[in-house]
Amino acid sequence: MKPFGLLTVGAHLRRHGFNVTLLDCMDRLHPALFDHIPGYRTRHRFYGTGHYIKEPLVKPAPVRHVPRNYSRYGLPKSLVRRLLETSEKPALVMMTSGMTYWYPGVFEMIALCHEIFPGIPVMLGGVYATLCHEHARSMSGADHVLAGSAVPEMLELVSRLTRFPLSGDIDTQTRPAYDLYTRIQTAAVRTAMGCPFRCPFCASHLLSERFSRRDPEDVFQEISFLAQDLRVRDIAFYDDALLPDHENHLDIILNRIVQKKVRVRMHTPNGLHPKWIDPDSARLMFRSGFRTMRLSYESIDPDRQKEMGYKVSDSDLVSAVRYLKDAGFALRDIGSYVLMGLPGQDLKEVADSMEFILGQGIRVSLASFSPIPGTDSWYRAVAGGLIREDADPLLTNNSIFPLVPDPVQRKKLVELGTLAAVANQKVVRNESPFSDGDWKRKLRHLLS
Ligand code: SF4
Repeated sequence: MKPFGLLTVGAHLRRHGFNVTLLDCMDRLHPALFDHIPGYRTRHRFYGTGHYIKEPLVKPAPVRHVPRNYSRYGLPKSLVRRLLETSEKPALVMMTSGMTYWYPGVFEMIALCHEIFPGIPVMLGGVYATLCHEHARSMSGADHVLAGSAVPEMLELVSRLTRFPLSGDIDTQTRPAYDLYTRIQTAAVRTAMGCPFRCPFCASHLLSERFSRRDPEDVFQEISFLAQDLRVRDIAFYDDALLPDHENHLDIILNRIVQKKVRVRMHTPNGLHPKWIDPDSARLMFRSGFRTMRLSYESIDPDRQKEMGYKVSDSDLVSAVRYLKDAGFALRDIGSYVLMGLPGQDLKEVADSMEFILGQGIRVSLASFSPIPGTDSWYRAVAGGLIREDADPLLTNNSIFPLVPDPVQRKKLVELGTLAAVANQKVVRNESPFSDGDWKRKLRHLLS
């Protein structure tokens, strides 16, 4: 989880002569954590992933009825305060925001910056600031809220606020400034912005209007710099669509990685489109260092697949898994997304989709649906009275199944998640979740 956009903003500012300092509150390797918390150790699970420190909080009013804990994740607030109080007073604070329902943490940070650096403007951007722009403008307390990723406008505003003249041309292809981290093991790379599809539940087109790709050689140079100069071990691709026309894009990047013997492990937490995986591309991905992979599937329902523009079919998924296995990938390192909690979706659709995925020998990643303002699904949910147009963004939190009004149904979705976890543990042990019949019995019981 790296602040990809903010790091790119930092790189732009440096190019124009600004002195930039980074504070990443989600940095599990932040050097100050080791002093602040006696005995703090970063426990990695796989490939640099791991848990965040969290501080339990009182639930805000809109989610007080939800029987779940509510916490702030990342660096403890007392440490963040100390880091800000002991840092040099900046001319400007630029802050990013992630999921729409994470906004309270952003608001706290803005208030803290105003308290510690009175009179210093705070500029807010990122996903929440783009998708819930009016909410952010009216409620966040930021002095300036930017939507989208228009670099020239952002730089002009920064120059005006800081009275610091821009020097040189604006290069919209600038790479993120990962060297701002003191210690870094994992990084994110994007080879393209946007997606050629338009699934009704997805906000990709709201964050990037067009599907546009970078120069493959530039992407290769970035990966090479990360792996060889910064010693990054694991790279996650943040692309929404990594594989379209891979012969003229991704394959060029991967062939350069193989040719130059760049050693790095690569991962695709965003789902790959199975239809574009063929035996050659699967072999090239394996040779170049891909390790964990997620495939986009979402649902076994033919109407749902049609609604997603036929981005995937059952046979695409089956073939892709076979090609990946033949290329050398361990099935336990492959997972596929199944969506649950969609409005009007019955449990059987989710259960059948899960069974289909597990039947391929790979893991299932159950993704809880989050209604994202501005998407087709959002407008349908508003029209159907499932959510109010002015609903607090906290209510779009996927873990509370916001569009499933029936509590019994919501409980069963949570139980489906538990069953998926049990099945995945078996896949990791190279066992079939269906071997003793117990798992399927529990699934049928849940559906009855
Ligand atoms: S294919 Fe994936 S990224 Fe593209 S619109 Fe559909 S869900 Fe979004």
